[in-house]
Amino acid sequence: MGMRYRRYLAGERIYGCSHCKTHLATIHAMRSRAFNGQHGRAYLFDIVVNIREGDPCDRAMTTGTHTVRDIYCVKCNTTLGWKYDKAYEPSQKYKEGKFILERNLLVDVQ
Ligand SMILES: [Zn+2]
Repeated sequence: MGMRYRRYLAGERIYGCSHCKTHLATIHAMRSRAFNGQHGRAYLFDIVVNIREGDPCDRAMTTGTHTVRDIYCVKCNTTLGWKYDKAYEPSQKYKEGKFILERNLLVDVQ
């Protein structure tokens, strides 16, 4: 189940899981810092690695209904945020296929 091998990222700034420091994303893949997660501020990324995706579900947010999947660290199974599968509002379509990571659950690993 899940990924057996973890990927290691290279770059000037890498975000990792705050529990186990598994690499998750680079600053180059960050699209926005202006999001809110379940636990406060959150970041929007184009690409996140070393995660497991949960089942899709519809969630009502302040910006409308979205189909999202919770995402989990492959190593320690912490819930890190979610992935946008689908946005119903045309103005929110840019989020589709992108990932939210909760700032409080990230650490700088480099
Ligand atoms: Zn972890």
